[in-house]
Amino acid sequence: MPRPILALISPDAIAHNLKAIRLCAPGARVWGVVKANAYGHGLARVLPGLLAADGLAMLDLAEAHLLRELGYGGPILLLEGLFEPADLAVAIQLGATVVVHCNEQIRLLANWVGPGHIDVYLKFNSGMNRLGFSAQKLHSAWQALRALPLVGAITLMTHFARAERSDGVDEDLARFHAAIGALPGERSLSNSAATVLHPAARGDWVRPGIALYGTSPFASQSAAVLGLRAAMTLQSELIAVQDLAPGDAVGYGGRFVASRAMRIGIVACGYADGYPRSAPDGTPIVVGGRRTRLVGTVSMDMLTVDLAELPDARVGTPVELWGGQLSVDDVAAAAGTVSYELLCALAPRVPTRLAP
Ligand SMILES: *Cc1c(COP(=O)(O)O)cnc(C)c1O
Repeated sequence: MPRPILALISPDAIAHNLKAIRLCAPGARVWGVVKANAYGHGLARVLPGLLAADGLAMLDLAEAHLLRELGYGGPILLLEGLFEPADLAVAIQLGATVVVHCNEQIRLLANWVGPGHIDVYLKFNSGMNRLGFSAQKLHSAWQALRALPLVGAITLMTHFARAERSDGVDEDLARFHAAIGALPGERSLSNSAATVLHPAARGDWVRPGIALYGTSPFASQSAAVLGLRAAMTLQSELIAVQDLAPGDAVGYGGRFVASRAMRIGIVACGYADGYPRSAPDGTPIVVGGRRTRLVGTVSMDMLTVDLAELPDARVGTPVELWGGQLSVDDVAAAAGTVSYELLCALAPRVPTRLAP
């Protein structure tokens, strides 16, 4: 018997979320963002749920390669472009579109000899200050790309740093429009938050990631309110139950101390499975279909939960760490992080199955 921990992945939930996102961005085409192994869900598992997307976006050539091996024939966008000259031949062969965010990448394209064709996304730095050309350098970058016979369509793109705020894209959007001026080509600006919140920024292609997986890009609006369904349910079971007397402490460091007699349950899930060790006492968790709380420090392979209100809970009782009954957003908020980090951190040792 393997440990009872399991991640259930639902391509149906992803297909549902994709439809919900399309309703937010009528007329725009959608890149489904599948970087970081589809935000920890597994590329192969999510692919059936994303076949209605207009293309798939990621960082890694290896992931692009895997998509083609899985039979995916649609557009592929490499969100950070090429990292070294050898990548170019592979990208051309895979038919990928590549982001160009710096002069080194233009030079790499310019050094190509031979036939071939590649579409590019020219990235403007609108305020994030990570990747992209400044307003002063954007036009010369565009001219340099346009002069290369290798380069096909040039789409103008940017990426927002504060799209989850109601006024969070105003400045970036103004900078983008001022910088691109009359340059021709399609536009792509919006991640999940911007797609939902900022109609003015939708452009021709939106690039949602996190919302596809059923979590909310906003602290103040739940995924359920946005009509999104969790694509990952992380579940396990109680593997032991302990009776505590007043004053008994739980786990490493004895962080939680029982103030009265109580029962606790031991769950087969720890930080080596991807559950955050930073989760404090009180972090929500679902045991036997009912919400209760974490008590005590998360260990490598186990964590401990309060069973005071769950007299029927016993060894084998199902536990949901996050998923359909408990949004990963709630767990992330309690642990002082974001759903992105928890989903991406799902450990390879956790078996995954398709949700029934
Ligand atoms: C990750 C990423 C996205 C998707 O962002 P979400 O917040 O997950 O929707 C979009 N565009 C770029 C360039 C990205 O790197």
